[in-house]
Amino acid sequence: MINENRLLQRLHDLSQIGRNKVTGGINRFSFTSEEQQAIELVTSYMKEAGMTVNVDGVGNIIGTYGEENETIMLGSHIDTVPDGGKYDGALGVLAAIEIVQTIYEQQLPLSKKIEVVAFKDEEGTRFGFGLIGSRAMAGLLTYEELQKRDASDISIQEAMKQFELSPLPLEKVKRNDIQAYLEMHIEQGKVLENEELPVGVVVGIAAPLWLEVTVTGVSEHAGATPMSIRQDALTAASEMILAIEQMLNGTTNSVATVGKLNVEPNGVNVIPGRVTFTIDIRDIDEQKISALESSILEHLQKVAERRNVTVTSKVLQRVKPAKTAPMLQQQLASSIEKYGVQPYSLISGAGHDAMNMANVAPIGMLFVRSKGGISHNPLEYSSDEDIVIATNIFYDTVMELAK
Ligand SMILES: [Zn+2]
Repeated sequence: MINENRLLQRLHDLSQIGRNKVTGGINRFSFTSEEQQAIELVTSYMKEAGMTVNVDGVGNIIGTYGEENETIMLGSHIDTVPDGGKYDGALGVLAAIEIVQTIYEQQLPLSKKIEVVAFKDEEGTRFGFGLIGSRAMAGLLTYEELQKRDASDISIQEAMKQFELSPLPLEKVKRNDIQAYLEMHIEQGKVLENEELPVGVVVGIAAPLWLEVTVTGVSEHAGATPMSIRQDALTAASEMILAIEQMLNGTTNSVATVGKLNVEPNGVNVIPGRVTFTIDIRDIDEQKISALESSILEHLQKVAERRNVTVTSKVLQRVKPAKTAPMLQQQLASSIEKYGVQPYSLISGAGHDAMNMANVAPIGMLFVRSKGGISHNPLEYSSDEDIVIATNIFYDTVMELAK
């Protein structure tokens, strides 16, 4: 069993760094003094847990326990969104350290070494570009991307230099030697709460496909144009948007959202001539996303033809979803059962470092119930009881994999 008081105390202590005393929210952005303080604290915990600590070329903090050849990596992140919560990321890092410290104190024999990583800049708050540390570790980060700039016109690479992370041999940050990557994270949704379960096994991490659709009709006088001959781009777009919702009804893991709409000319007495809207499509299965993409676009085309308008679309962003390894899902499920909890599978709608790590290692994720599904907010909350049972379950899985 883990030392629950120590874990909860550390969670509290880390949450004091970057804390806004008025809102209670936490502000720890990459390459800032707040983040540096958090790194120092986490490094001291890693050392107390018997780990040697290293920083890689992009600033990932890596604690290593043991000298065996094979590696089980545990991790998450310690940066936050503006006015973020206490648990997002921090819980995963601190739970992983607690697990290693428990093993260290009991001198339990392992056949694999365990590494704990606190990834650099998962949230992307400062540069509008996140998952920097895990992208680099998965070999996905490019030198070009390091030129992205923050609001003060400082690039990622320049910020790195200020923290003595230069030159940056990105090639050396990439890892190919990890047998399994595991992450414990708060759910940030309401599924576990609805199921009345403290934890769940993540089967996959959904990723977004963003499309921008343009509907073009004819902009004419609202008084002088009879209804029967109109080429109204907005009524056509409305029918399209409702059709998208209907197409997604009844799907299990897929979601699609139209979140942004632009109407031109946007006048009270003018028939809309041009409408652009976005579609965010998510699933954990890449093929399902492509299938949805084509059926949606096909359907929009039909609506456009019937309504005598034209429709075009372009891809704004396509991110690859990730599936967790069935073997790690099974191991987590059997650890959950050992603790008398019903194993439950769910998907992650939000992105995580694990998504990138899936490119270089089998991944497994354990979710912890979030109160009200609230996250990226000072009200983010997971109960002490849930945190303790989740960490013990996670500990059991790590022991089964590393013993
Ligand atoms: Zn997170």
